Amino acid sequence: MAQRGKFVKPQNRQISSARVVAGKKISPNFVRVTIAGDELSSVSPMGFDQWFRMFVPQQGQRTLRLPTSASGFWYAQYKLMAKDLRPVVRNYTIRDFRAAGAGMFGDTTEIDIDFASHGDLGPASAWARTATAGDEVAILDEGLIYNPTPGAEWQLLVGDESALPAMAGIMNSARRDLRAEVFIEIPDADDAQDVRVGDGVNVHWLIRGDATARPGALALHTVMEAELPAGPSYTFVAGESGLATALRRHLVSDRGVPKSDIAFTGYWRHGHASY
Ligand SMILES: Cc1cc2nc3c(=O)[nH]c(=O)nc-3n(C[C@H](O)[C@H](O)[C@H](O)COP(=O)(O)OP(=O)(O)OC[C@H]3O[C@@H](n4cnc5c(N)ncnc54)[C@H](O)[C@@H]3O)c2cc1C
Repeated sequence: MAQRGKFVKPQNRQISSARVVAGKKISPNFVRVTIAGDELSSVSPMGFDQWFRMFVPQQGQRTLRLPTSASGFWYAQYKLMAKDLRPVVRNYTIRDFRAAGAGMFGDTTEIDIDFASHGDLGPASAWARTATAGDEVAILDEGLIYNPTPGAEWQLLVGDESALPAMAGIMNSARRDLRAEVFIEIPDADDAQDVRVGDGVNVHWLIRGDATARPGALALHTVMEAELPAGPSYTFVAGESGLATALRRHLVSDRGVPKSDIAFTGYWRHGHASY
C-alpha cells in the first residue's frame, strides 16, 4: 500500500518574481502586504496552510539577486552567494490568493501576506513594515504541511500569531462539517480576525496581553487544561518551537494521541534568527 506522504508538495515549483502593490497595518501587531505579478500565475493555489519561501533584498540593497534553481539546489546556490549580496529568505503563508483578473490592484495574480510584527524586528518583519508599491520580492511555493489523517473525526489547531494566517487558511479550506477546536494566541484583542468557519468549529482567541510573556506559553497551558472531544483527531500546531514540541509531547504522553496524527512545526525559535 502506498504510504501517505508527510507533506503535500506543489506540482510546479519555480522562483517567481513579483512586486509589492500594497502594504498596510491591519491591526496592532499585523501588517498585510499584497504582492502581484505575471510570474505568480505559476503558483497553484492549494488553500489550507500553503506556505512559501520569500526572498527580499537586504536593507540598503538595490537589486534582488535570486538563486536560479527551484529544486533542492536553491539553498546550496544561496549559501554560495556572498553574504552581503544574498537576499533575505524567510517563510510565509498565503493569506489570500487572487488569480489574474480577480485582483484588487490590477490584472495580474495577487497574494496577500500577513506579517506578525515582533519587537526585535528581524529583516523580514522590518521589510514588511516599510514595504511600498514597486518593491521587489520573489517567492518559492512549498505546498502544505497540513495533511490530515484519513478518518479524523475532529481537528485541533493551535498556534501563536505567526500561525494565524495558516490556521485561518485551514479553517477556510476545511470541510464545513469537520468539527474543530482552535486555539489562537495573539498579542492584543484587536489582532483577532474574521474567520470563516463551519458550525462545529470553536475558535478560542487567547490574548497574551503581557508583552514580556513568552509567545505560545498561554496557548500551551490553555490546551493542556482544556476538555477536548473524544475520537480520532488530527492536530496542527505551529508557532514558537517550544509551543509546537511541548504540545506534541503533552498530546502523546498525557492524552495518548498517536504521533502520526500530529503535525507540529516550529515556525520560529525564541532568540534565534532564521537562516
Ligand atoms: C511554514 C511557515 C509559515 C510561516 N508563515 C508566517 C506568516 O504567514 N506570518 C508570519 O508573521 N510568520 C510566519 N512564519 C514565521 C516567520 O517565518 C518567522 O517569524 C521569521 O523568523 C520572521 O523573520 P524575521 O526576519 O522577521 O525575524 P528573524 O530574523 O528570523 O528573527 C529575529 C528575531 O526575532 C525573533 N522572532 C522571529 N519571529 C518572531 C515572531 N513571530 N514573534 C516574536 N519574535 C520573533 C527571533 O527569535 C529572533 O530573535 C512562518 C514560518 C514557517 C516555517
